[in-house]
Amino acid sequence: MTTDQYTFTDPTKLYSSIKTTAQYQEGPGLDADLDNKADLGEDTYRGSGRLIGRKALVTGGDSGIGAATAIAFAREGADVAISYLPEEEEDAQRIVGLITAAGQQALALPGDLKDPAYCRDIVAQTVEAFGGLDILVNNGGKQQHVEDLADLSDEQFDDTFKTNVYAMFWLSKAALPHLKPGSTIINTSSIQAYSPSENLVDYATTKASINAFSKALAQQLGVKGIRVNVVAPGPVWTPLQTAGGQPTKALKEFGQDTPLGRAGQPAELAPAFVFLASAESSYVVGETLNVNGGMPTP
Ligand code: NAD
Ligand code: MG
Repeated sequence: MTTDQYTFTDPTKLYSSIKTTAQYQEGPGLDADLDNKADLGEDTYRGSGRLIGRKALVTGGDSGIGAATAIAFAREGADVAISYLPEEEEDAQRIVGLITAAGQQALALPGDLKDPAYCRDIVAQTVEAFGGLDILVNNGGKQQHVEDLADLSDEQFDDTFKTNVYAMFWLSKAALPHLKPGSTIINTSSIQAYSPSENLVDYATTKASINAFSKALAQQLGVKGIRVNVVAPGPVWTPLQTAGGQPTKALKEFGQDTPLGRAGQPAELAPAFVFLASAESSYVVGETLNVNGGMPTP
């Protein structure tokens, strides 16, 4: 069963037709190659004008949570730039098509978030193309499970931090001169920030860093009328998980240990980003919105 974000439904029964199965993808993974396909809200998300005239940059906007967010932002009336790795062009072009179909401008920005010059450049390109920037969503992320610390390479540790933490810093810093009062930064954390898995040492550490960075920056920027908030997903069915985020054999049971007994879909995350991006959340600052199927958080 799938639904839009308004229909009265039993959350334990939702998306029961989308089975998470054991599978593996090389590289960053594609939504196009996900079996079964995740729900990005492409057939269901209904906008209600909450982001009319806004200009957004969403990293990792080609697939998963970022793609669902990009679709929702466009249907709420925002122009949306998406950042992604060059090998994800197929997914990115589909999302560009959906943004355009919503009547909004789309900007495709392939490149590597580990490169500070790229981070600065995509902010400049978004401002140039749209005439400004009001919403920055730091959502691109790297997650590779490693069972033993001895096998966690210096290179992976560095890459995970560069992608998940440094890029957020570089992008926030580059965006700041363009963010007028009313603008928002939304960072994607994880349940891993509070409840770290033994095989995700580097990843979980970056997610705790994202939380601390966001709370500190929220205090610094609140006085300027710029709100910083966080969305912390639980287990969500995306290519990240099938591309080494989890051990392949763990995917069949993915999300079943949550109180709702299932994995979340990207479409269920997008409304949290819309809320934090829009003026509906005008008094919400430095907050973490946990969208995780009921896993306890501090
Ligand atoms: P996803 O694979 O669909 O999205 C992650 C994106 O990150 C990729 O599409 C890719 O474009 C981008 N990315 C990774 N490395 C990059 C690099 N070096 N340069 C440029 N782009 C890069 O998976 P997702 O699950 O939607 O992930 C989105 C965010 O959600 C991530 O920050 C992830 O940590 C977080 N998250 C996911 C889950 C989950 O269960 N899926 C849970 C908690 C948090
Ligand atoms: Mg992707």
